[in-house]
Amino acid sequence: MRIEQDIKLDYKDVLFKPKRSKLESRRNVDLNREFKFHNSGQTWTGVPIMASNMDGVGTFSMAKALQEQNMITVMRKHYTVDDWQKNAKGLKLKNVSVCTGTGVIWDPDAPDFATMKAVLAMYPDIPFITVDVANAYHENYGDFIAKLRDEYPDKTIIAGNVITGEMTEELIIRGADIIKCGIGPGSVCTTRLQTGVGVPQLSGIIECADAANGIGGHIIADGGCVYAGDVAKAFGAGAHFVMLGGMLAGYDESEGDVVDGKIQFYGMSSDAAMSKHGSRKDGYRGAEGKVVQLPHRGPVAPQLVEILGGVRSACTYIGARRIKDMPKCTTFVRCTQQVNQVFNAFG
Ligand code: 5GP
Repeated sequence: MRIEQDIKLDYKDVLFKPKRSKLESRRNVDLNREFKFHNSGQTWTGVPIMASNMDGVGTFSMAKALQEQNMITVMRKHYTVDDWQKNAKGLKLKNVSVCTGTGVIWDPDAPDFATMKAVLAMYPDIPFITVDVANAYHENYGDFIAKLRDEYPDKTIIAGNVITGEMTEELIIRGADIIKCGIGPGSVCTTRLQTGVGVPQLSGIIECADAANGIGGHIIADGGCVYAGDVAKAFGAGAHFVMLGGMLAGYDESEGDVVDGKIQFYGMSSDAAMSKHGSRKDGYRGAEGKVVQLPHRGPVAPQLVEILGGVRSACTYIGARRIKDMPKCTTFVRCTQQVNQVFNAFG
């Protein structure tokens, strides 16, 4: 047994240190970023914030709202080909990722993989494939990514989740372009309680970004953002993309039913998700997600403006003209209290 003694930090444990800046106004901050991906060789330009592939978040309606801000949506993997045919009209395909699990390793007829293939055949302009599993540390996961890379040499592959440098490197070497980083920080995730596994997100992101940068890869900070300032901190820590679940949940675009003014939101490994999608509940797999009832928050557009406004403003405080410049302009200070709780304004 070994204990790493240096303290690992979360978003709430740090604040940006303000710096003298030459930026005249928030309007001068450019939130678009251009990427060239290591394995696919493709380029992508846009605002590097993504909707998670969760029920209630990775929906067609969400994608249509996010594309207005040039953001990406990773579509939930349970949509059928029929759903795609009915709803894809009006989607900016460049801002969309299909999603699959790895069930096809055991079941050649796995519906998510078959749907992914069919959707990519119908809509070849979709640039991203996300291979989403809770734990990407299995050897067969890396093998799967390598096979997928052979099958889709031109697609930008998003792989995860991991939260350590060596596995970030491994998945990039096996053929992934963007690594989804986060084990246990999610708003409706119970992995840390159920298994005791995880790494505080800010420190994890710093480590994974460093590993990816070393070999030309990219990472997504996935999970744990509660405020716009957390999104900014993730970029400051070196994340190339930030993925949001809970911050985009409860809106009109969730495509969920509003019951008594509330919308149900659940983790994709929760009992609720497993019974909804008929996933394996085989007696040795526990639920690692929970269900919450959120107040219906109306359309998501104002929330997107709020998030982008926060990131833009953070940039002006630290003198970063672009998101790309944020890590080099960032000095974090550790703090014991990030907000004034007197009116409990932030819970
Ligand atoms: P949030 O932005 O809500 O804090 O985090 C979203 C992320 O939580 C998702 O993108 C996904 O990686 C993770 N997640 C979603 N559902 C579950 C779940 O049931 N269990 C766990 N461990 N993580 C989940």
